[in-house]
Amino acid sequence: MNKLPTLADVEALDRLDPLAPKRAEFNLPDDLIYLDGNSLGAMPLIASQRAREVVEREWGQDLIRSWNQHDWINLPSRVGGKIGKLIGAAPGQTICCDSTSVNLYKLLTCALGMQKGRTGILTQQDNFPADLYIAAGVKDSIGGQGCEVITVQEGELLERIDTTIAVLLLTHVNYRTAAVHDMEQLTARAHENGVLVIWDLSHSVGALPLALDQWQVDFAVGCGYKYLNGGPGAPAFIYAASRHHAAMRQPLQGWMGHKSPFEFAPDYIAASGVAQFLCGTPAVISMSVLEAALQVFDGVDMESVRRKSQELSELFLLLVTRSEALQKLRLKSPLAPEKRGSHLAFTHPQAYAICQALIAQNVICDFRAPATLRIGFAPMYVSFRNVWDAVSRLGQLMEDKTYLHAEFTQRRLVT
Ligand SMILES: *Cc1c(COP(=O)(O)O)cnc(C)c1O
Repeated sequence: MNKLPTLADVEALDRLDPLAPKRAEFNLPDDLIYLDGNSLGAMPLIASQRAREVVEREWGQDLIRSWNQHDWINLPSRVGGKIGKLIGAAPGQTICCDSTSVNLYKLLTCALGMQKGRTGILTQQDNFPADLYIAAGVKDSIGGQGCEVITVQEGELLERIDTTIAVLLLTHVNYRTAAVHDMEQLTARAHENGVLVIWDLSHSVGALPLALDQWQVDFAVGCGYKYLNGGPGAPAFIYAASRHHAAMRQPLQGWMGHKSPFEFAPDYIAASGVAQFLCGTPAVISMSVLEAALQVFDGVDMESVRRKSQELSELFLLLVTRSEALQKLRLKSPLAPEKRGSHLAFTHPQAYAICQALIAQNVICDFRAPATLRIGFAPMYVSFRNVWDAVSRLGQLMEDKTYLHAEFTQRRLVT
């Protein structure tokens, strides 16, 4: 697309889009343009049906019998298996549980324990802050001498991987810039040095094709409420490659990760597979909703999701580049679409106010401190027409400078 596309061109892209019918599976107000699926995915209709069913029927009527009757007890492994298909994991290696942060704590401690004699956790300076906080917390709980957290710039990662490092902890798609790491290459380099790797897939799962088994990944965590559309605070997941199952040992020894929880034995014996990463009772309601939400991906090829994501973001960029009013937005994401995840990041000194003014125009996007505007393209429900309308409203409010109104500059608690 070299010349500036017209509205008719954009409408034609929607007509030809094989994923276009997916939008009808979501509950999205017609006049809303939702470009924030990277923070909280939209609600699949089937998820709200399932929420009613699990609350009213399974909890309300069948009560505690549902653990067996509706197989609540196997939710974590069943949902894990469904997520496993989206990340290229053979069965038995993925389990749904807890939050991404808690899961990272479990995996980091576990991986360090498998690397006797090594103490370094290598990670990236601009990793998602929660991941850095958790790494610091692991270091504190293990004790200063037994663990060291080393943070480097993205470009220094490859050279810093050496035989003193125990664990490489990275987020596949950068939450701020959308820069995507070469997971296969970094994992291979780590392995040449005997380093175990933990990947955070929060901004990748449901948006990019992943091949964790093929890329020989050791461990991974990821989020259920972004591109997986599992609802606010949906449970997260853990992937642990089966070759590590015999050696791994996680620190939060809860009864649900016990070999036989219902024997109520006084001593902890870890379950043999990935199930040992369970800790307490699963969040049945939200996990059931996530399970239903995953049906949206049935029969969907992740390559086609990726292709549409790139086409949407390329169209957005092209329209922004050609708009006189938008020249002050600085692209912070890589220019090459294959080097980006599924969102675009722009910086502007007034990014917060611009974001708020755009939301007031019914275009939902988000802001990340200090000055980044994030525009997310969830290919399952964002249309090319949405992109067209979003850029034109953005151009208008930049031209009119409506974003300078006081109502838009006031910071709210959640940004
Ligand atoms: C969203 C996100 C998380 C979320 O962690 P929670 O424990 O669910 O709050 C973690 N890591 C990354 C990289 C994320 O993008």
